[in-house]
Amino acid sequence: MVNLESARAKLAAVPDPEIPAVTLVDLGIVRDLRETASGVEVVLTPTYSGCPATELIADDVRAALAEFGDVTVTLQRAPAWSTDWITPEGRQKLQHYGIVPPQCSAEQAIRVVPKLRCPRCDGGRTEQLSRFGSTACKSTWRCIECGEPFEYFKPI
Ligand SMILES: [Zn+2]
Repeated sequence: MVNLESARAKLAAVPDPEIPAVTLVDLGIVRDLRETASGVEVVLTPTYSGCPATELIADDVRAALAEFGDVTVTLQRAPAWSTDWITPEGRQKLQHYGIVPPQCSAEQAIRVVPKLRCPRCDGGRTEQLSRFGSTACKSTWRCIECGEPFEYFKPI
């Protein structure tokens, strides 16, 4: 018998390799955790297809749950991950870390350029510098009021 509560707690502590301020659970990447005959199975939906962090994430999950027996990591790619799955707690942590969380649904993002507030000084005058940030999932912005650059987690 696997103590699923305890396994869930261990899993909830695994940070995202790209943004260590948030966990995999915060990002909504972990879809399921269940007991198997010899251990546990974790179902993950990777954030972006072809994201190089996916293999790293699977390794981290295996390491975190090793005490519960064999760890099977299953990648579930449909439905595709959406920034809508980021938890309210995850959004708060991102903001605190200096990355503005998605401000709308992916569908709205196609039509609207967001009005962002600076995560550092809360200034309302910001401009987009580049559609791509340190990774394809973020864009780079600058606050005109405090001059600091920041990143925006684009809705998908
Ligand atoms: Zn600012």
